Amino acid sequence: MISKAVMEALMDIVPKKNIHIEEPMAAHTTFRVGGPADCLVEIESTEQLKKVQKYLRLIEEPYTILGNGSNLLVSDKGYRGIVLQIANKMSDIRVEGNTITAQAGALLSKVAKAALDHGLTGLEFASGIPGSIGGAVVMNAGAYDGEMKQVITSVTVLDQEGEELILDNPTMEFGYRTSVIKYRPFLVTEVTMTLTPADPTIIKSTMDDLATRRREKQPLEYPSAGSTFKRPQGHYAGQLIMEAGLKGFQIGGARVSDKHCGFVINTGSATAADVAHVIHHVQQTVKEKFDITLEPEVIMLGDF
Ligand SMILES: Cc1cc2nc3c(=O)[nH]c(=O)nc-3n(C[C@H](O)[C@H](O)[C@H](O)COP(=O)(O)OP(=O)(O)OC[C@H]3O[C@@H](n4cnc5c(N)ncnc54)[C@H](O)[C@@H]3O)c2cc1C
Repeated sequence: MISKAVMEALMDIVPKKNIHIEEPMAAHTTFRVGGPADCLVEIESTEQLKKVQKYLRLIEEPYTILGNGSNLLVSDKGYRGIVLQIANKMSDIRVEGNTITAQAGALLSKVAKAALDHGLTGLEFASGIPGSIGGAVVMNAGAYDGEMKQVITSVTVLDQEGEELILDNPTMEFGYRTSVIKYRPFLVTEVTMTLTPADPTIIKSTMDDLATRRREKQPLEYPSAGSTFKRPQGHYAGQLIMEAGLKGFQIGGARVSDKHCGFVINTGSATAADVAHVIHHVQQTVKEKFDITLEPEVIMLGDF
């Protein structure tokens, strides 16, 4: 519960229309599950983010960052604290020569489209990933042999004191679906990428080809958070899950996709608990059958 005093203090920093009390997180995640956050605040600028962060630290109110919610499983009980949404209100994209600078809330699809429009290659892999560039940097999102690490020059963040830092590529400590931001409380505000000039027709045809491959292989017709598990060394999670006999395994409305066993999908009526139970059962079964630990790629938020 957010007190009247906190609400009033937030209203001094962001417009009232951007503050949502008891906001259902199901409306903000691609899984379409998740109970209410005490409060969700739509952030419009780095200045607002700095001020809100400073205030929340002062009153010791928990907060978390939401990008496009495409890698999140939020508990049915929701989130006790404030969700700071850095999405479409903070999503400018600038292109200068071979360099693209995007605010953290810009969607990857739009950044990739800007690259295409300016005849720049390097972001084709990202055009079908439904995240924000901020979330993509945190996760070092990748697909089809591409990953954010390959194109990022620098990332602007706010540290816990609200200081602006510019982190270069090595300082980001990118790894498989991870970066320094996974364990340091940095808030990404802007991302700069360097790409390479190329023929737009070829860039477009690569993007179209990857989109077709996604549609053919992935259950895009159902809500999900993409690949549920990280790829274990030397294996593919989807293949292990299939070989464990779990294709179509279902609890409540959550199901191991029949089209791609690496995806847990929401068939329509899933709760976050259903999804978490399926994840747990898959982990247990794969461990028992192959002695391999599947680590979730999906980030869980709230109490499960
Ligand atoms: C159909 C589908 C296909 C997918 N395919 C792929 C794929 O091919 N490759 C891949 O890597 N991923 C894939 N994903 C997963 C997801 O899209 C990526 O992980 C994406 O990068 C997450 O971005 P987001 O903005 O949605 O982050 P969110 O889910 O909103 O957040 C993810 C994490 O990042 C943090 N975060 C977000 N923004 C910021 C910020 N500005 N500053 C600090 N922390 C922040 C959040 O607190 C959270 O911990 C897919 C998902 C779906 C639904």
